[in-house]
Amino acid sequence: MDDSDNSPAVQRIAIAKAGATEEQYIWFRDLADRAYNCRRCPRMEPNSAVLGPLNGRIEARVFVVGEAPGRFGSAVTRVPFHGDRSGENFTKLLEHAGLRREDLFIANAVQCNPKDEQGRNDRPTAREIHNCSEYVRELLDIVQPVYVVTLGQKALDGLHVIEPHAIVLKDDVAKAVPWRGLKVVALYHPSGRAMARRPIQRQAEDYRRLGVILRTDPDLREPAEAPAVNRTDDEQT
Ligand code: SF4
Repeated sequence: MDDSDNSPAVQRIAIAKAGATEEQYIWFRDLADRAYNCRRCPRMEPNSAVLGPLNGRIEARVFVVGEAPGRFGSAVTRVPFHGDRSGENFTKLLEHAGLRREDLFIANAVQCNPKDEQGRNDRPTAREIHNCSEYVRELLDIVQPVYVVTLGQKALDGLHVIEPHAIVLKDDVAKAVPWRGLKVVALYHPSGRAMARRPIQRQAEDYRRLGVILRTDPDLREPAEAPAVNRTDDEQT
């Protein structure tokens, strides 16, 4: 199979399903409202959770989990991984996987921007990740993806709170690992800080491997790829 970004196989990945159901929209809107009004983490700014229509497709088959909104990025733009260096890197890296941002749903281990005492971006604490894991769990139930792609250790920590796993980022990077009936592909975070541990060239290779995993997964084939048999409407994916 040709693994280049322009491979015809890329076109056949059924990243997005036919469309979200009304139930998904209503549930998501309710969840976004609850996150907006959430006060569980004392240092988070009230009414700042980044959760809404700009997070992506509610019916996406690939659900991306980052760490937290950045103060110059999605905390301002409301678009996950957009507006700062991490966002720029992420957008470039996605191309190596043959993915389009608009086909994904993107959230974070915590939905609000954690700041240190000087007002700079800080990493979320274990307590904050625990607090917000309920929202991530519910998002997974709403979106029902086939894949969860985690960006960085904090995203993996968030999944671990929902249900324990044994994924080790350095050992399992860019591999599909079963978890809770889904498949998790762990990648490094695209921030400048993480680039010191995993340079962008190696991350680009990780994303290429992600693209191969997605392109070769029968669960992500368009229905047209399936054997030509008569199907009822109920069987259409
Ligand atoms: S990070 Fe999550 S749990 Fe904490 S205040 Fe924001 S929405 Fe609530």
